[in-house]
Amino acid sequence: MILDRNKALIVFSGGQDSTTCLFWAKKHFKKVYALCFRYGQKHVVEVDMARNIAEKAGVPFEVKDVSFISELSSGCSLTDSNIKMDEERIGVAPPNTFVPGRNLFFLSIAAVYAREHGIMNIVTGVSQTDFSGYPDCRDSFIRSLNVSLNLAMEEQFVIHTPLMWIDKAETWKLADELGVFDIVRNETLTCYNGIKGDGCGECPACKLRRRGLETYLKIRKS
Ligand code: ZN
Repeated sequence: MILDRNKALIVFSGGQDSTTCLFWAKKHFKKVYALCFRYGQKHVVEVDMARNIAEKAGVPFEVKDVSFISELSSGCSLTDSNIKMDEERIGVAPPNTFVPGRNLFFLSIAAVYAREHGIMNIVTGVSQTDFSGYPDCRDSFIRSLNVSLNLAMEEQFVIHTPLMWIDKAETWKLADELGVFDIVRNETLTCYNGIKGDGCGECPACKLRRRGLETYLKIRKS
């Protein structure tokens, strides 16, 4: 399979991070595709919002159902409404918002999809800086998986992680530089309670997002 270096596939959820990455990819590659996953998340509205953003961006959008991944493990508060969300990691264990294997599954499926469509570049919005205790957001994992995927399929995929070393405030700055600050602020869904834009303001994802936004808005004004 010949992979086109001008093509990029974004693992897209419609949240702040992957939306910023989608526009980053549009700037750096001629043809961008968005792949979204249904993985048993409580807020399926997430998928509709992701589709709307992709449409606005003029990027082909596809959804794959991988709900079985949340059936493999118990105890995740993102996919089980009966479990109260951890605010942050406690001790050495990841918080219960962690979906074991999620990025491993997503990126592996993305690579097979990319191979089928002749896409060389795969873009993901993971970040080690805001590392909330998710081991599969770390740079070492992504690099290792990139090697494994290439060995698995005898290909030359390149996984890009534009947000790996920047924090939430710098992610807002990047969105602003890409000219999509308002789209990211108003159209994306980061909130664990399923409220778009600035969200519920109370859940861990909203708090992290708001702290970053407030920091960036101060810098932006001055
Ligand atoms: Zn929230």
